Amino acid sequence: MVQTQTDEVLVAAARDGDRAAVEALAARYLPLVYTVVGRGADRDLDVDDIVQDTMMRVVTGVSGVRQAERFRSWVVTIALRQLADARAEARRSRLSRADDPAGDDREDPAADFVGLTVLRQVLDTEQREIAEAARWLDPAFRVVLSLWWLEAGGHLTRAEVAEALELSAAHAGVRVQRMREQLDVARSVVRALDAAPGCPALRDTTSGWDGELDPLWRKRIARHVRDCPRCSERSRRLAAAEGLLAGLPLLAPPAPHQPRRRRPGQLRCGGQGGEERRHACRLRRDGLRGRGRSEPAGAGRLLRTGRAGAGTA
Ligand SMILES: [Zn+2]
Repeated sequence: MVQTQTDEVLVAAARDGDRAAVEALAARYLPLVYTVVGRGADRDLDVDDIVQDTMMRVVTGVSGVRQAERFRSWVVTIALRQLADARAEARRSRLSRADDPAGDDREDPAADFVGLTVLRQVLDTEQREIAEAARWLDPAFRVVLSLWWLEAGGHLTRAEVAEALELSAAHAGVRVQRMREQLDVARSVVRALDAAPGCPALRDTTSGWDGELDPLWRKRIARHVRDCPRCSERSRRLAAAEGLLAGLPLLAPPAPHQPRRRRPGQLRCGGQGGEERRHACRLRRDGLRGRGRSEPAGAGRLLRTGRAGAGTA
């Protein structure tokens, strides 16, 4: 059975053109890729597309992988590059939308599907706070958190995290530490905002806030938390993040897309707003069904979807 083979055996077979080995590797690594991208992506990125592009590059590039023991970090590196490309593309498209007020669809709540999936998959209140705090991080730190979260969960080693970040182990450690400092600030922000009853002075501070999770507001609210006896008292009892993140499973990738008839009243997908909405709708429709957490069903679709320009890595 090809599914029970080690990565080394599968990579060697894939290199020799064994199609079943390629499919088995893709199926095995899809949850990891989905988790890296899902936790690392900004809310307006199309996670489904980034994952699909990553898997296509993995499938087409595996024949060039010389060191089988580095296959996992090679896959994670591809995912991060695809994520960085998508982020750059989104930035360009945001800039062009800024010139066209009618084209700004930033408010689409469906686009935050993955963020919500992350929240749903954590159970504990403090884990949930971390998942919410992650959405406040600077984009570069979100990627670091995504990798460090996988390390805490035993899915990546520190050496693989460092390699994916293209840093030495020592520099990766520094980057993780900086991310953790910002994460703890963000956790205190989330906790202060969620407190019931809320702090009246914080309500004044946030009276002009439109709800966007941007660094400026993170800093503004954090400053209040630090200076306010009531809010700072709450943030004093944050548990160590790695203990909270350990043992959390990989995110389940969405099941393969099955075209189905739209029910009356269901949100229309693919209308104005285009690609982003279409994918968010598809994910929302298909991604929330019950399924095994490491079900590899999506891999077949990824392998079957021939996509031009996927080139070798
Ligand atoms: Zn306060």
